[in-house]
Amino acid sequence: MSKISKGGNRFKYFCSLADCGMLRCSKCKAEAEPLYRLDIIKKSLCHSCFIEYYEKKVKKTVLKYRMLSGVKNLGVAVSGGKDSMALLKSLLNIFPSINFVVIHLNLGIPGYSDTCQTLVQRFCQKNSIECIVYDLRNAEGYSLKDFVTSKLGRRICGICGVVKRYLLNKIALENDLDAIATGHNLDDTVELLFNHYINGALDDLVRNKPVLPSTHPKIVKKIKPLIEMTEQENLYYVLSTHTEYVDNKCPLVKGSRMMKRKKLLMKVEEEIPNFKHLLFKTHLKRFLPILEKHFEVPALRECERCGMPSKNSICSYCKLISKLRIPSSATFPSNRCHE
Ligand code: SF4
Ligand SMILES: [Zn+2]
Ligand SMILES: [Zn+2]
Repeated sequence: MSKISKGGNRFKYFCSLADCGMLRCSKCKAEAEPLYRLDIIKKSLCHSCFIEYYEKKVKKTVLKYRMLSGVKNLGVAVSGGKDSMALLKSLLNIFPSINFVVIHLNLGIPGYSDTCQTLVQRFCQKNSIECIVYDLRNAEGYSLKDFVTSKLGRRICGICGVVKRYLLNKIALENDLDAIATGHNLDDTVELLFNHYINGALDDLVRNKPVLPSTHPKIVKKIKPLIEMTEQENLYYVLSTHTEYVDNKCPLVKGSRMMKRKKLLMKVEEEIPNFKHLLFKTHLKRFLPILEKHFEVPALRECERCGMPSKNSICSYCKLISKLRIPSSATFPSNRCHE
């Protein structure tokens, strides 16, 4: 079994003659190379059978959770990595009648963000899709780099999450978009579940689901069409559709607890096949309904600083920004992300 190493992950890629005897697709039986090996369905598929399998699965997820009901203008958050590029490419193929607007946040991460922006803009230009590029440095006067070098730097992925959630919602609202799609995959979802369960973060657990409806006129609905797709499937999809993506991981993720948890869960999956799907389904079907029953949706008011919905007088984004102080002696990126 040959392997590819992409973005720090190693996946079984295709069968060689020595491993598999005949190089035949499990579905159409055509001789083909490479064959995408999917342990989850115990099949090896050729390019076109894999694309068909992937798009069918994404479509099923979107329809099952009624993600696009009432959606004409869909914002798609695209960073340029394999997951968001797979999201955009598959949605374009499956739902051609939707009006897609790509939202790209340039987070100002040196040696990374500008490459991502160029790739996303190139894809949108080629496919005639509207692309909103929001550059943190120009629009907000700071970049993620400033957080890395502040005393908040150890929680950089958490901070990045707050910034992205707030800005994506604001941009979607200002552009009259009906919903925002993000590229969260099954591995992300299970890693978050794992973290939230061990920390007893009930309010975060309740939010970990395929669709987050609008609960306030200033909150745009969020959907996760790839929530049942693994990182491996997303990688295979961008490869099989020849979709360009940024292969390098964000430099800030190195050494983060999030990555450590993901690696641990990969090992569990190796020992207990289908573990991730099972945990996700159990959360969704057994625990979430109980949690939702006992968990009241918090009353929202408007943030005193920015006017966006908030549980407290100042929203978490404004609170975060007010803490931003950049020590002049700090260097980048010596301070790594430890969340
Ligand atoms: S790895 Fe962390 S810091 Fe980098 S883009 Fe993702 S969430 Fe943000
Ligand atoms: Zn085939
Ligand atoms: Zn605010």
